[in-house]
Amino acid sequence: MMTISPKELSKEQLLSLIIKCADFAAKKHKTQKRMNREGTPYINHPLGVAKILTEEGDVHDPVVIISAILHDTVEDTETTFEEIEQEFGAEVKLVVSEVTDDKTLPKMERKQLQIDHSPHISHEAKLVKLADKIYNLRDLQAEVPIGWTAERAHEYFKWAEQVINGCRGTNARLEAILDEIFASERMEYEKILTSS
Ligand code: ZN
Repeated sequence: MMTISPKELSKEQLLSLIIKCADFAAKKHKTQKRMNREGTPYINHPLGVAKILTEEGDVHDPVVIISAILHDTVEDTETTFEEIEQEFGAEVKLVVSEVTDDKTLPKMERKQLQIDHSPHISHEAKLVKLADKIYNLRDLQAEVPIGWTAERAHEYFKWAEQVINGCRGTNARLEAILDEIFASERMEYEKILTSS
């Protein structure tokens, strides 16, 4: 049981915990792939989200970074919150729980709940959400998923912007990146509309 906070660990202990966390997530997601044509291994996503936080958001709070690496394990694999708490502590479990959708609910309801809940989650959870959306929207800008129309992709951007609006005032760098993504997507979509 991990009773000590990641914030209180020595440099060596923290490095070990980060690697343990990446290994844990890789094993949990080992059979999953991203929904792109290449079928990229799913683990690229949580690791990429953590890297957006450190490299682009200048976020170095270990609770946030570990939570980012684990953020989809409970939602998308058999991982339980108890397991997360046992291995990575109560603070990480709390942040992961704040960014985990209840998959027993219908998809439309879950999407609405993300909009409703985002203003009320912790600062740490908002950081994970900002970076998660940056990663997913960049993916969507690079390639529209198989079976998606331009309208569906545009609706996704509009929904993501509503979720992000609830997380504003958290990290100016990450929010500026998102604003740029939303502005360029709107321009691209206008072009599609006027050319058709
Ligand atoms: Zn994610």
